[in-house]
Amino acid sequence: MNTAAIETQTLTELLDRISRRENLAEAEWLQVISEASTEDLRRLADALRAEFHPDNVVTYVVDRNINYSNVCFSVCNFCAFYRKPGDPEGYVLSYEEIYEKVEEMIEIGGSGILMQGGLHPDLPLDWYTGLLSELKNRYGIHLHCFSPTEIFGMAKTFGMSYEQVLRELKDAGLDSIPGGGGEILVDEIRRKRRTECNSQEWLDAMEAAHQLGIKTTGTMMIGYGEKVEHRIQHLEKLRQLQARTLASGNPGFVSFIPWTFQPDNTPIGRIIPDRMPAEEYLRWLALSRLYLSNIPNVQVSWLTVGLSDGRRGLHFGANDIGSTMIEENVISKAGANHKATELMLVDVIREEGFTPVKRKADYTRIYSITNPN
Ligand code: SF4
Repeated sequence: MNTAAIETQTLTELLDRISRRENLAEAEWLQVISEASTEDLRRLADALRAEFHPDNVVTYVVDRNINYSNVCFSVCNFCAFYRKPGDPEGYVLSYEEIYEKVEEMIEIGGSGILMQGGLHPDLPLDWYTGLLSELKNRYGIHLHCFSPTEIFGMAKTFGMSYEQVLRELKDAGLDSIPGGGGEILVDEIRRKRRTECNSQEWLDAMEAAHQLGIKTTGTMMIGYGEKVEHRIQHLEKLRQLQARTLASGNPGFVSFIPWTFQPDNTPIGRIIPDRMPAEEYLRWLALSRLYLSNIPNVQVSWLTVGLSDGRRGLHFGANDIGSTMIEENVISKAGANHKATELMLVDVIREEGFTPVKRKADYTRIYSITNPN
C-alpha cells in the first residue's frame, strides 16, 4: 500500500468519526481541515445542521447594534473603532440618545438590542445598571449586551469579580451576552494583537455568565494573522467550556458565529490588507459546525462576507443568518458595509430552500413569518 492510499484511508476514517459526532484530537482536526475536500466538509456540516434542526428552519433576528461608547483602555491593533481615554473623538451616548435608537428599532419590528462598547475606565457601574433597568422598564425588549471583554473591563475597573458584575447586570435586566472579544483565544496571538483581556480571562468571564444561567453566543474572528492550529485550539476551548456548562445544567452557548477580520482603517490592515477568501471562510464555517457539536446553532456572518457568500453558508452548516443590523459601527469602520432589510433576509432564506423564522438574540423563536410587511 503506498503512502497516498494510507492518508486517504485515514481521512475517510476521520470523516466517519466526525459524522458519528466523535471528538478528534488537535492533530486530527488539522488533518481534516488541510486534506478534506470542501464538498466533504459541506456535506457533513449540512447533515449535522439538519440533525439539529429537522424542521428545515433558518432563523434571523431584527435588532439594533448600539455602540454606547468608543472609549477604550485596550489598544487592540486590529480595531478601527476605539479611541483612547481623553481623545477628542471619544464619545459616550446619553441615555436619551440610546432611547431614540431603541424606539427606531422597535418601529421597524425589532425585538431587542445588541449593545457593546469599549472598555471605558470612568463610567460607574450604576451607569450600566441604570441603563439596563430603564430600557427594560420602558420597552420590555431583549437586552443582549456587554461581551466577556467588557465584563472583564468592568470587573477590573470596579474591583469586583466577574460573578458580582454579572449578577448586578442580570438583576438590572440583562438577558444574554454576546461573544465579542473572543477573537482567537490563544495568548500567543492575543499578545501580538495587544488585546488587554487574555484568553483565560475571557473564558472565565464567559463561564461566570454560564454559571448564572445567562445565555451567550460564542464567536471566532479569523484571518487576523493567527495560525490554523490557533483556530483549532480556539474551537477546543469553546467546546470544553460548553461541555462543562452543559454538565452543570445550564444552556451556555446557544450559538456560534465565525466571522472574518475586516482590515480597513486598522493598524494591522497594512500588514494584513486582504480579506479572507469566501472558500476558506466556508470551510471554517463547516468545520466549526462539526467541531462544536455541543452548541445547537451556528450563524453565518453575512455582515462580514456579504450576502451572496453568506447565503452559501446556509449549506455549510449554518442554520441562522444573523441580523439585519440597522446600525453597526465596529466592523463597518473596518470596511464591512453590507446592509440588508428583513425582507431581503427572508427572501434569501426562502431562495435557499429553508423556512425563515424570526428569533430573539437568545435564539428563542418569535414566529414563523409569511410576510414581514
Ligand atoms: S476590540 Fe474592543 S477591547 Fe479592543 S480596542 Fe477595540 S473596542 Fe477596545
